[in-house]
Amino acid sequence: MPTGADAPPTARAIRVVRTRAELREALSSAPRPIGLVPTMGWLHAGHRALIERARAENATAIVSIFVNPKQFGDPSDLARYPRNEARDVEICQESGADLVFAPDVAEVYPPGFDTTVRVGAIAEPLEGAARPGHFDGVATVVAILFNLVGAERAYFGQKDAQQLLVIRHMARDLAIPTDVIAHPTVRDPDGLALSSRNVHLAADERAAAPVLRRALLAARGAWEGGERSGGTLRRIMSDVLAREPLANPEYVSVSDAETLREVDRVEGPALLSLAVRFGKTRLIDNELLP
Ligand code: AMP
Repeated sequence: MPTGADAPPTARAIRVVRTRAELREALSSAPRPIGLVPTMGWLHAGHRALIERARAENATAIVSIFVNPKQFGDPSDLARYPRNEARDVEICQESGADLVFAPDVAEVYPPGFDTTVRVGAIAEPLEGAARPGHFDGVATVVAILFNLVGAERAYFGQKDAQQLLVIRHMARDLAIPTDVIAHPTVRDPDGLALSSRNVHLAADERAAAPVLRRALLAARGAWEGGERSGGTLRRIMSDVLAREPLANPEYVSVSDAETLREVDRVEGPALLSLAVRFGKTRLIDNELLP
């Protein structure tokens, strides 16, 4: 990026708002349709792709940056979540966003806040089982963001496949008229899905982490070769993970892509998904079949 005197004039200056009132005021003159990209900051090329898509498909592109305490079960996980707002705002600007909403916790959850949005069965397995309360926090904050912004569209990454389904369900059940749009997972060249958490990986863990992708692709390859047994596909993924000593699998799943119920046989669209720990860092990834 050129800087200083070499920098070309920027097309539009980005605006950062922090309160509900400032957001409302900024939105009152924003051209429609509006595209929203909810994030927790520490933005990377995966977020960039969502923002660029929101930019391309809408007249106004808004990014929210909010590390949502309600979706963290473990206080140390929240405390060590990486943050760098100045850099995030730069990335938002480069990716074409018009507006950043970066509220503090009391602005999102004012004193006396006492409502939880809980989505049912789709939020229970996988990440829901591994991280109790996580999706309550996600659904609650996204419902608030959807109501505050009133966007026509909101963009989410396929990397968090269950989150996407939970949010779709929430928006439908609560009659929130924001279209929930999925965007493909952005990866490093070695296949590791980009994640704000990758920064915590030690060098040897980072080198080992693409094993998630290899496990998913091994199962996909078997499925493409005609294998339909859920048990066999799970075993193929577990075997690949077992060959990487730094990888501690938390779950290895082959589920129905809509209900996320584990399947014995893959007969329709299915989701292969993994959660694996490397030291203290927990990574997830998934692959949709077909
Ligand atoms: P986060 O900041 O981790 O809460 O993520 C904000 C949004 O970016 C969510 O919709 C994520 O699914 C999405 N996202 C995170 N990582 C990626 C990635 N590697 N590719 C595409 N989308 C992503």
